Amino acid sequence: MIDVHVHVTNAKLPGIKAEHPLLDGPEPPLAEVLRAEMKRAGVDQILAMGRLDPPASDPLGIAGILRLAGFVPGLHAIGAIDPEKASSEHLQRVEMVLKAGKVKALKAYLGYRPYGPDHAGYLPYYELAKTYKLPVVFHTGDTYSTTAKLKYAHPLLVDEVAVDHPDVRFVLAHFGNPWLMDAAAVVYKNPNVWVDLSGLIVGDEALFAGHFQGRRPIEEISDAIGDLRKAYRFVGKPDRFLFGSDWPLAPMASYRKLVEAIVPPDAHRAVFEDNAKALFGLA
Ligand SMILES: [Zn+2]
Repeated sequence: MIDVHVHVTNAKLPGIKAEHPLLDGPEPPLAEVLRAEMKRAGVDQILAMGRLDPPASDPLGIAGILRLAGFVPGLHAIGAIDPEKASSEHLQRVEMVLKAGKVKALKAYLGYRPYGPDHAGYLPYYELAKTYKLPVVFHTGDTYSTTAKLKYAHPLLVDEVAVDHPDVRFVLAHFGNPWLMDAAAVVYKNPNVWVDLSGLIVGDEALFAGHFQGRRPIEEISDAIGDLRKAYRFVGKPDRFLFGSDWPLAPMASYRKLVEAIVPPDAHRAVFEDNAKALFGLA
């Protein structure tokens, strides 16, 4: 199983509420928690998001992920791209990282950075994504920050770049939640757009257990599953969906139950493994 959306370092997103304390600590204890988490969920590969505002020597904010990968087999990095950094020096440093094969994808934090996906600052990154055949993952939907600007994170904006860059593959993280049907329309129409199902419910093990094992279903989770099933059916393309948990915002094993409740059993293999392998070129 592959989890395509986790955080193992603090993303340094502007205006973010509390980040997870574990992510600021030394690598070995974090690695131990993460390996146990993966084992319990039956996950053997994970893709972790890079951070914004890294030093110049680490242009995609992945140094912490790569250090941790030494302790966590199956951990891969996704590089964070920043439309405010588009100088040729910066882009050359980015290209060196891509050339060295250090990332499996690029990530744009729409909304956290107040620019739409069609902003000029992103365009050189799409060219690089095309050259190095790397998907570009967009944060879409609600943000975890009060200073973020939501309109830039609306999934409908991705239609524009999906059409203008047919040779680049794009991923709508979080299925554009709560704009699920808008996101579904973009995926349905465009052959180069995928969805990751991460971060749709944020909570601890007790919350998920309360719903899946408790006496009474939790309304918030029942509603979410109903809405997600509807949007999933609208797309009608099981090969475009990817399992992601947004760990540590939710426990991986609990989150797996949520996605199993959304995706019909005959598509589990595709959504939990095969689609991610094909899209990100994983072994
Ligand atoms: Zn995330």
